[in-house]
Amino acid sequence: MTGRSHTPIRPIWLCRTCGNPWPCGDAKLALLAEYERDRVSLFVYLAGQLGDAMDDLAKLRADMLGSGELFGRFLSWPSRGNHAYRVAPIDTRRDSARPVAERKEVSGS
Ligand SMILES: [Zn+2]
Repeated sequence: MTGRSHTPIRPIWLCRTCGNPWPCGDAKLALLAEYERDRVSLFVYLAGQLGDAMDDLAKLRADMLGSGELFGRFLSWPSRGNHAYRVAPIDTRRDSARPVAERKEVSGS
């Protein structure tokens, strides 16, 4: 963690360098570089930060920030453009995706 200057000011969770909501753009770039080969650890780290931020902001009664908004702010951005973390769409054409009862009906005819 060398040279990372865009760190959050707690408990308000704004960047101490640029003043944007943390993680700011520069913080995201630094985190992506730092966790380039270990995205799972990045998510674990961000989830921990999210938990701390929720606690801090709840104490501040920052009611304008919903938990959904915080979740998006902390955890949605690393998965954008990264196919490995996308949920695969269910292919409804495959038999395995159908309910068991429906499959029996098809195979019994
Ligand atoms: Zn910043």
